[in-house]
Amino acid sequence: MLEKNALYVVATPIGNLSDISLRALDVLGKVDLIAAEHVQNSQHLLSAHAITTAKWVSLHQHNETAVSEKILALLDAGKSVALVTDAGTPGISDPGAILVRLVRAQGHRVIPVPGANAAVCAMSAAGIMNPHFLFYGFLPAKSGLRKRVLAALQSYPCTLIFYEAPHRILECVTDMLAVFGPDRELTIARELTKLFETIHTGSLLQVLHWLQADANQQKGEFVLLLSAAEVPDKSEISEQGRHTLTCLLAELPLKQAVKLTAEISGENKKTLYQLALDLKAADSSG
Ligand code: SAM
Repeated sequence: MLEKNALYVVATPIGNLSDISLRALDVLGKVDLIAAEHVQNSQHLLSAHAITTAKWVSLHQHNETAVSEKILALLDAGKSVALVTDAGTPGISDPGAILVRLVRAQGHRVIPVPGANAAVCAMSAAGIMNPHFLFYGFLPAKSGLRKRVLAALQSYPCTLIFYEAPHRILECVTDMLAVFGPDRELTIARELTKLFETIHTGSLLQVLHWLQADANQQKGEFVLLLSAAEVPDKSEISEQGRHTLTCLLAELPLKQAVKLTAEISGENKKTLYQLALDLKAADSSG
C-alpha cells in the first residue's frame, strides 16, 4: 500500500535497465502521478518492466518551481506522487531539491526509494582504501574557474569525486594535471553498467596519455575519482627539529623558517610546513 499525501523520490538505473529495485517498480506502478525529467526516457524504463502508468508530468531544472506548486496541490488533495530523473538518484546533480523542500515545508512526507548512483557505483569498484570521500559533482565548464575550484580542493585528505561530460573530459583531466601535478592517482569510471563500461586507474599523467591515445575512451559518461592529498605525519618531526623550527619562527617569516629548519635538521619540508602552520595558529589563538 502506498501512503497518501506523499512524495516518493525514486532512484532509477544509470544504464542497465535491470538495476531498479522491486520497491521502486511497485511505487512507480501505483502512484497517481510521476514527475520525470524527460517523460519519454522514464516511460521507456517502465515499459521495459511492463508497467503502464497513466499520468506523467515533466519536471526539470527550468520548470521545477512552477511544477512543484502543482504537485503540492495534488499532495494536499490526498494523492501520491513519484519523482524520477533520467538516471540515478534524484537530487544528486539532478533536479529534486526544490520540490523536496517545498513538500517537506508543507508538512507532507518525502519518502526516499534508494537505488543506483553513479558516484557510489564508481567508488564500489575502484578499490580505494581511504574511507573518506567528497562528492563534488560537476566542475565549472570554463577552464579558469575550474582550475580555481580544483586548487581550493587540493589539500583535502579524502578522495574527490567529480562528474564530467565527454566533450570536457580531456580539458578537465588536463586541468587536474596542471593543478595537482603528474603523480596523483585518478580512476576514470566510464559508462558504468553499460556495454562499454571501463574502469581505469593510473597517475594523472598516465591517465591523460591513455585518454589521448584512444578517442573511444573519451566517449560516454564519466565519474572521476581523484586520490586524497597525503597528510604529513607531524609526529615524525624530532624534538630537535621542532625546537629549531619554533626558534626560527619567532625571528623569521614562515617560509624561510621552514626552509632553514629543513636544511639544519634534514626533516621533511612539507611536514615542517604543516607543523609551522599549526604552531603559528596556536600562537595567534593563545
Ligand atoms: N543523479 C545521477 C546519479 O545519481 O548519479 C547523476 C545525474 S548527472 C545529471 C549525470 C552525470 O552522472 C553524468 O554526466 C556522469 O558524469 C554521471 N553518470 C551518470 N551515469 C553514469 C554512468 N553510467 N557511468 C558513468 N558516469 C555516469
